[in-house]
Amino acid sequence: MAIPDGTTFKTEVDDLLHETRVFQVPSLFHNLANIKNDSLYAKAKTDRVAFWEECAKKLHWTTPWKQALIWEKPFAKWFVGGKINASYNCLDRHIKANLGNKTALIWEGENGEERTFSYAESYLEVNKLANAIKSLGIKKGDRVAIYMPMVPEAVFAMLACARIGAIHTVVFGGFSAEALRDRINDAQAKLLITADGGFRRGNIVPLKNIADTALEQTPGIQDVIVVQRSKAEVAMKRGRDHWYHDVVRNVKPYCEPEAMDSEDVLFILYTSGTTGKPKGIVHSTGGYLTGVYNTTHWVFDLKPNDIFWCTADVGWVTGHSYAVYGPMSNAATQILYEGAPDFPERDRFWRIIEKYKVTILYTAPTAIRAFMKWGDQWPKGCNLGSLRLLGSVGEPINPEAWMWYYENIGGQKCPIVDTWWQTETGAIMITTLPGVTPMKPGSAGKPLPGIDAEILNEEGQIIPAGGGFLSLTSPWPSMLRGIWGDPQRYKETYWGRWQGKNYFAGDGTKRDKDGYFWFLGRVDDIMLVAGHNISTSEVESALVDNPMVAEAAVVGVKDDIKGQAIAAFVILKEGHKLNAKTEEILKEHVSQKIGALARPSRIIFTADVPKTRSGKIMRRLLRDIAEGRVLGDITTLADAGIVAALKEKYQEA
Ligand code: ATP
Ligand code: MG
Repeated sequence: MAIPDGTTFKTEVDDLLHETRVFQVPSLFHNLANIKNDSLYAKAKTDRVAFWEECAKKLHWTTPWKQALIWEKPFAKWFVGGKINASYNCLDRHIKANLGNKTALIWEGENGEERTFSYAESYLEVNKLANAIKSLGIKKGDRVAIYMPMVPEAVFAMLACARIGAIHTVVFGGFSAEALRDRINDAQAKLLITADGGFRRGNIVPLKNIADTALEQTPGIQDVIVVQRSKAEVAMKRGRDHWYHDVVRNVKPYCEPEAMDSEDVLFILYTSGTTGKPKGIVHSTGGYLTGVYNTTHWVFDLKPNDIFWCTADVGWVTGHSYAVYGPMSNAATQILYEGAPDFPERDRFWRIIEKYKVTILYTAPTAIRAFMKWGDQWPKGCNLGSLRLLGSVGEPINPEAWMWYYENIGGQKCPIVDTWWQTETGAIMITTLPGVTPMKPGSAGKPLPGIDAEILNEEGQIIPAGGGFLSLTSPWPSMLRGIWGDPQRYKETYWGRWQGKNYFAGDGTKRDKDGYFWFLGRVDDIMLVAGHNISTSEVESALVDNPMVAEAAVVGVKDDIKGQAIAAFVILKEGHKLNAKTEEILKEHVSQKIGALARPSRIIFTADVPKTRSGKIMRRLLRDIAEGRVLGDITTLADAGIVAALKEKYQEA
C-alpha cells in the first residue's frame, strides 16, 4: 500500500475521534499493583538484553545459558546454551514450592459439569500422559497435533508434549476436516490427540468423526488418542486409535522432563488467517516462556489469590500464552469454560464470573460487541463485584465498546488492558501497565519494557508522531523463530518490506503526542480515498459510536473518481429497526465524527459479517464481495453462509 505524501500516514481523524478521555489508574489498584512505577521501562532502556536476562532468571533452568542473544537478522536466538523444560516450569516448580494443593484449573463444561484440578493433580495427569505418548514411540522433536474441545485434557496434552520435548500444534476444535488435514500434513505430525466430541450451544461437535475424515489423507499419523468427553458414538480404528483413559491407565506416574535447549521448538501454531493463508508460526522454549511468564505478571498483575479467566480457546495463541503457559508458569488459578457465551442464556459468562468470583477477565472485542448487542440486562443480572482487572485482545477495541466494557462489566473500577500482540510475537507487546499507565479508550498504550516498537514510513524511516506501519525494531525473547518449513516465506512476509532491516507487523498504527499507539487496521485494509489514507478501524468506530449500531466492517472499493470509496457493512443493535432514513443518519454521523472524506458511499445492512474462527472480521472477503472477485482463502472462515448471503445482497442493492 502506498502512502501518498511519503512521510505521514495521515488519517483525517487525528485527534478528533480520539478527543479521548483519559482514565487514571484507580489508586487502590495502583497501591497493590505488582508494577507500581516506570522503573522497569528505565531498566530495560539502560540495557535491554540484560533486562531480559533478569526476566529469564525468574524461570527454572537446569543449565544456565552461555550467551543471552545471538542476532543474525532475521533470526534471533535467546539464552543460547541454556536448558529448560516448559512443563517443569508450569508444574514441578510449584509443587516444590508447596503449591501442590493450589487449584490450577476450574473447568466448567457447557452442560454445567464441573471439574477442578490442583497443581499436584495436573502434574500427575501430565506425567501419565507424557509416558503414554512416549510409549507410542513419540520422541523429542516429533510433532503432535491436538484437536480438542476446551477441556482440561487439552491443557494436559500440551504440557505432556512439552515435557517430553515433542512439538505440539494445536488446531482449533471448530476447524473443518480439510483445515485439520492441511495443518497435520504441513507439520508432519505423527500423533493426533482428539476427543469424541465437545459441546457447543447444546450440540455435540463430532471432533473424532471430523478427524477421521481428515485422517484419510494424513499419511504421517500413526496413532490417535481419543478423550472421552461427549460419549458420542465414534469409530475406533484398531491399532491406530486409543482411548485416553486406556493409555494412561498402566503407565508410571512420573516422567522425567526432557532438558530442552532454550532454542528447541516448543510449538507450531497456525495464524488465524485474517489476511490470507495461515502461516505455521514456530516458537522456541526459553524465549517464549520468558515472554509469557513476565507479561502475565506485569500486565495481568497476577496475585496468588486471583481467579484468572482468559476466554480464548487453546487453539489460538491467546489460549497458548494466557490460558496455559503464562498463567501456569505463574501458578495461577484459572477458569476453563468449554462452550458458547450464549448458552443456555446470554449471561453465561457473567454467571461464571459470579459463581467462581473471577477477578481478572481477558476476552476479545468481538465478544464485547456481541454482549453490547444483546443488551445491558444480562450482566446487570449478575454480581460482577469480584472483578478487578479487564483485558482485551484480537482486534482494535473501539472506544464505544471500551466504555461499555468499563462501565457494565468493570463497574468503573477495573483498569482495562488493551493488549496488542500477534501469534508471531508470542506475548503481549503493546499495552498499558494496569497500575501505572493511564488509559485512553481505543488505544492499546505503549510498548512494554524491553520491547522496541516504532512507526515507520514506506522507506523505513521512523515517524515520531502520526501514522504509518508498525515495526518491532529490536529482537525480543518470545519472537517467532520462523514459519514451519518455509524460511523464505518468513523472510518475505515479515522482513521483505524494508529489505530485511525491520520486522513488519502488518498493522497500520498511529502514535499520539503522548506516545500512545492507536491501531488503525490491517495495512492491506487501509483505504485510500481521494489521496487520503483512511483507517478502517476509525470509520468503524465512528459507526459503532452511533447508538443504533452494534458492529461495523468497513472496506475500500474501487471508485473511478476517488480511487477508492468506502463501503460499510453494518449490524444494527437488537431492537433497532431499519428505515428509510437510517442509512443517511449513519453516513452523516461518520461525516460529523471524522469529516466528509470518511463518509461511506454505501452502507449495507446485514445480520452478520464474515469472521475468522477466532472472531475477527475478514475485510478481505468483504472487498472480494464488493469488487465482484472470486473469494480468497476461506478455510478459516467461521460461517460460509454469511458470505453467500452478503454477495447476493450486495449485488441486489
Ligand atoms: P493472519 O496473520 O493469518 O492474517 P491474524 O493476524 O488475525 O491472522 P493473529 O496472530 O491471531 O492472526 O492476530 C494478530 C493480529 O490481531 C494483529 O496483527 C492485529 O492486527 C490484531 N490485534 C490483536 N490484538 C490487537 C489489539 N489489542 N489492538 C489492535 N489490533 C489487535
Ligand atoms: Mg497476522
